[in-house]
Amino acid sequence: MLKLSGEALAGTNGYGIDFEVALRISREIKELVDMGVEVGAVIGAGNIWRGRQGGGMDRTTADYMGMLATCINALALQNSLEDIGVETRVQSAIEMREICEPYIRRRAMRHLEKGRVVIFAAGSGNPYFSTDTAAALRAAEIEAEAILFAKKVDGVYDKDPNLYADAVKYNTLTYQQVLEQGLKAMDSPAMALCKDNNIPIIVFSLDEPGNIKRAIAGENIGTIIS
Ligand code: UDP
Repeated sequence: MLKLSGEALAGTNGYGIDFEVALRISREIKELVDMGVEVGAVIGAGNIWRGRQGGGMDRTTADYMGMLATCINALALQNSLEDIGVETRVQSAIEMREICEPYIRRRAMRHLEKGRVVIFAAGSGNPYFSTDTAAALRAAEIEAEAILFAKKVDGVYDKDPNLYADAVKYNTLTYQQVLEQGLKAMDSPAMALCKDNNIPIIVFSLDEPGNIKRAIAGENIGTIIS
């Protein structure tokens, strides 16, 4: 299960969708598919809208806007994957039958077996959750072997490496350490789900080309949480 933040699609401008970047990510995903790896993907929406940006808005409505924004990203990723010949299906947690399939676990697993990349859109379908939690949930449901958590930073640090030059990167961590120390990896509901279901999380940077393949090959290119 590959978790991509919305920002991963934004490129350097930090907002919207950079199709060059989407294509680069798609090529990396294609390498996995060509190796015979079954790939599911959950994509966020930070490049368009996050519920907490809603300010004075009703939180539930703001979160629905966020979930809809993940669908925009999912379609963009689907489009760039199909441009390079990768078969895909988008399955949404909120039904929109004219655009994509509804999320049906067994059908998703069948697509994966057939070598199609399944992009899980609209998060978990519930407000007050994040796409990190949706990735952990879907990973558990489809019995994923690991979550590849692609970020802007190349792993989990003891403090923000963008602010502190002496920040130290962890090579490995336990779920408990992340939870207890409040480290900035996945959010805590996602971490708790992974812990309860023993799903390892590999945190790494997307900025280095070839990293998705390296992560799959077992190279420790970031931080492994298990
Ligand atoms: N969201 C939600 N429920 C979910 C997943 C996402 O309500 O199960 C909403 C929430 O408002 C969130 C937004 O969708 O802020 C975008 O997701 P996220 O912030 O996880 O995106 P990322 O940070 O990965 O780009």
